[in-house]
Amino acid sequence: MSSINSVAHKYRSLCLSGVAEQLEQLLSQAEAHESSYLNFAETLVDHEQKQRNSKRIDQNKRRACFPLLKSLDEFDYRFQTTLSKREINSLLDFGFIDNRNNVVFIGPPGVGKTHLAIGLGLKAIDAGYKVSFNTALSLMETLELAEIKGELKKKINQLAKFDVLIIDELGYLPMNKQWMHNLFQLINVLYEYRSIILTTNKEFTQWGEFFSDGNVAVPIVDRIIHHSHIFILGGESYRLKAKLNN
Ligand code: ADP
Ligand code: MG
Repeated sequence: MSSINSVAHKYRSLCLSGVAEQLEQLLSQAEAHESSYLNFAETLVDHEQKQRNSKRIDQNKRRACFPLLKSLDEFDYRFQTTLSKREINSLLDFGFIDNRNNVVFIGPPGVGKTHLAIGLGLKAIDAGYKVSFNTALSLMETLELAEIKGELKKKINQLAKFDVLIIDELGYLPMNKQWMHNLFQLINVLYEYRSIILTTNKEFTQWGEFFSDGNVAVPIVDRIIHHSHIFILGGESYRLKAKLNN
């Protein structure tokens, strides 16, 4: 007569670790509910599938490299006069990812741009998409390093494996010529192929000055805003508000 352990071992050897780990509970539940054989067979496969999904989601959350976890549910829309919960919720069918559209949050510091980008990214991962969070600075440094090693194309292709690339806080750091070139290469590959969630403190009309080379700014901006949902956030800094209320 086989023991639970030896059966669990067999499941594990077939890489069905979800069932292997919970075999005892699954068996007692089936006994308690007097499940039919067919029902039990289905329960086992459903359980394995659920465990795999949740493992993949956890893995995707780690791979996203969020600097901290911010949830959309924690976002207080009363502080945002220019943005409604409905507008953000309308993104949560993730049609924007399926259609390779971009989302852009523009606004001054402290109004919740990074919070919204992370919150939206987390929800996308829960829905099964792959997301990568990057500050503009870390992205520029990564691309620069890859370019020096002659591996810019390879790095861009790695980034393009994610369904959504978050680029946080573009507009604060001065861009040199090489960075602009690298960014253009990246945006060019992602255009109509993957989605970008971009946060920036600069209105697009100011991008020419920020890039110091209007010639590159135009095609970059052009590709980002074509097929994009643009949200202009206003109001005071939430950080400042929290400080003043203390
Ligand atoms: P930004 O990226 O626009 O500079 P952040 O997203 O970093 O701003 O927001 C600054 C801080 O204030 C974060 O801790 C964020 O969670 C919080 N915050 C900003 N706006 C809101 C809001 N409407 N509701 C809840 N928290 C907010
Ligand atoms: Mg920010």
